[in-house]
Amino acid sequence: MSTPIRTVISPGRYVQGKGAMTHLGGYVKQIGTTALLVADDFVWGVVGDQVASDFGENGISFERVGFGRFATPAAVDALVEKITAGGVDVIVGLGGGSAIDAAKSAGHLAGIRWVSVPTVASTDAPTSALAVIYTEEGEFIEYRFFPHNPDLVLIDSQLVANAPVAFLVAGIGDALATWLEARATSRSNSLTMAGGQPTQTGTALAKLSWDIIHENAFSALDAVRDHLVTPALENLIEANTLLSGLGFESGGLAAAHAIHNGLTAAPQTHGLAHGQKVNIGSIAQLVLEGAPREEIEDFVVFTTKVGLPNTLTEIGLSIDDDAELRAVAEAACLPSDTIHNMPFEVTPELVVDALKAIERLSRSIRAEKGLAEPVLYHAPH
Ligand SMILES: [Zn+2]
Repeated sequence: MSTPIRTVISPGRYVQGKGAMTHLGGYVKQIGTTALLVADDFVWGVVGDQVASDFGENGISFERVGFGRFATPAAVDALVEKITAGGVDVIVGLGGGSAIDAAKSAGHLAGIRWVSVPTVASTDAPTSALAVIYTEEGEFIEYRFFPHNPDLVLIDSQLVANAPVAFLVAGIGDALATWLEARATSRSNSLTMAGGQPTQTGTALAKLSWDIIHENAFSALDAVRDHLVTPALENLIEANTLLSGLGFESGGLAAAHAIHNGLTAAPQTHGLAHGQKVNIGSIAQLVLEGAPREEIEDFVVFTTKVGLPNTLTEIGLSIDDDAELRAVAEAACLPSDTIHNMPFEVTPELVVDALKAIERLSRSIRAEKGLAEPVLYHAPH
């Protein structure tokens, strides 16, 4: 199964900073002249005027199309039709992970170049050469892999600072998993999402992301509460977006994301952000690994303070939901998923026990450290 090839992949250019959106046209014109912009009405309301005048000044013609909630197969196919009908040579996904993933998928299918413009730092999707495809209800369907990463990833730190803090919290959950999963993939020397064995580079970038988050998260979250761009926020955006993206792709995914993918099948978790569900995967992975008590305590304390869920209660489940937890574990252990990158064999039985174990484990650590008790999550339907 594994090959002696090591590989690292990355976007062509990464641009980040306060006011970076004012440079988008200048970078895009190096890539194409006729753009399809994918942005939902809310995002377009925030950036539309600026982008329209900037593209005009740079001689880029464009059409903007709206976007629903998830990167579904139908949403991707509709974008491909737009591209082929309009002589488009570059597609730009603006917004959250799903709009960006849909743009990447459509760009690949239509054979044109693509650009990611995240307006929040809520996932590490923007830099990668893969997309996650979901049903209309938000259930995981598949990963789609592309032969290259975006030509450009551009993120304006002021937009991240202006967005609700919950997006940044979710991005921290997604990015914390990166080191735990890269470490496991490195231990097992399994294949990464980039299609080779882990490199020193990918694994080190995953660890750097983890370290930067621990150093900067609380200051960055406070800055965003007042819509301020500070060096701590810049550091956190880079960790959540670039380093976590490079780290997961060239360092490898393992149990945390596989458990996330399984959790999307439980209706109780619908409405939660990707990074919130990933955090449950991370704590469950630590339990599966038999991680040292101190490491588990640190993780529970840090993620509780950040505002991430680390109990079943906080994602709408309980240890009595045997059928749901069994279904989640079965889905997480599908032969195609990355749980098999763990350095030991993982079965659905082990995953069910790990998921059940986190409830009492996290509750007792939180109580011991004087932190808030978990609050039950209710899915919005
Ligand atoms: Zn993720």
